[in-house]
Amino acid sequence: MASERKTAPMRVLVTGGSGLVGKAIEHAVQQEGGKLEGEEWIFLSTKDANLVDVGQTRAVFEKHRPTHVIHLAAKVGGLFLHMKENLHFLRDNIKINDNVLQTAHEMGVTKVVSCLSSCIFPDKTTYPIDETMIHNGPPHDSNFGYSHAKRMIDVQNRAYFQQFGHRYTAVIPTNVFGPYDNFNIENGHVLSALINKTHKAKTAGTPVNVCGSGSPRRQFIYSLDLGRLIIWALREYDEIEPLILSVAEEDEVSIKDAVHMIADALDFKGKVHFDTSMSDGQLKKTASNAKLRRYLPDFTFTPLQKGIQMTCDWFIANYDIART
Ligand code: NAP
Ligand code: GDP
Repeated sequence: MASERKTAPMRVLVTGGSGLVGKAIEHAVQQEGGKLEGEEWIFLSTKDANLVDVGQTRAVFEKHRPTHVIHLAAKVGGLFLHMKENLHFLRDNIKINDNVLQTAHEMGVTKVVSCLSSCIFPDKTTYPIDETMIHNGPPHDSNFGYSHAKRMIDVQNRAYFQQFGHRYTAVIPTNVFGPYDNFNIENGHVLSALINKTHKAKTAGTPVNVCGSGSPRRQFIYSLDLGRLIIWALREYDEIEPLILSVAEEDEVSIKDAVHMIADALDFKGKVHFDTSMSDGQLKKTASNAKLRRYLPDFTFTPLQKGIQMTCDWFIANYDIART
């Protein structure tokens, strides 16, 4: 998907470069020929700068002088962390996003692609949800802090365009999973938490405890697919309006389906318990990928079972370094 534009080589700063999505972009850049001649790609973590702090944000931009930014850094977590820490999600993400976007503006960055999330969509809505509907009503109560902070990126992007003509945009991935995810049982997202739980249950010969009823539905995107799509968006996507990056509506699965896929991948034959005293969160947030398909009709997504298998294999092989 790499194009051969005749412009000066990009110097791309990836914030959140050490996380699930950042590592996938790094893989596409370094292992799949995603980097064009003369380009420089810099992957940041909190060790390079705490982006909640404006001084540290400016210093790291001064150091690298990027022409382009992929902005992934965020306080991120699964449903149960959101329910405990809505205020931290709101404040940290507002600060990180304003620091990154305003510093990019002050330092003349040509393009920024930021990452929103499909969990920021209105709770009460019609389905499928598309890019025009982000602000049509309050988000689900479980993660309102994160959602409002993320929605403001879209508002801010429009304002930078209106006042300064900047092409700062955003993508909206659905639920992401893959190598380098956060596999922590309390704080992780559903697939990574359940992979870790199933692995532990298999070792201990105990049942797997799934939170909630198993009936909520999600569209899962494999991180390496998302990494390739974000690189494409940086090079080719010229709109300010966000773009949903998702598998098709018919590829949405229930949490129960996903549990079975994880059990297959880990060869787990024990019992599965659904703890209905725990929250289901949003029952669904079905997103349309029609706009993406207009741009990339032939993009091939990794089938979910295959992506889960590769993630489980990575988790077992990298247990010592995985975030647990
Ligand atoms: P992740 O694995 O938790 O990675 C988060 C990244 O942000 C890490 O590189 C982390 O650095 C960095 N970071 C966090 N706080 C920071 C701070 N104060 N200053 C500087 N860097 C900071 O998360 P992810 O899943 O890759 O998420 C990447 C983006 O995708 C986020 O914007 C998220 O909202 C979005 N997204 C994720 C999902 C999903 O299902 N995971 C779905 C939709 C959208 P350290 O490694 O040093 O901590
Ligand atoms: P969400 O998609 O933004 O709601 O975030 P998650 O990735 O945390 O997924 C939450 C959904 O998975 C809810 O329906 C939960 O009830 C369900 N779920 C089942 N087991 C787990 C688990 O161990 N951890 C998490 N985070 N969610 C789980």
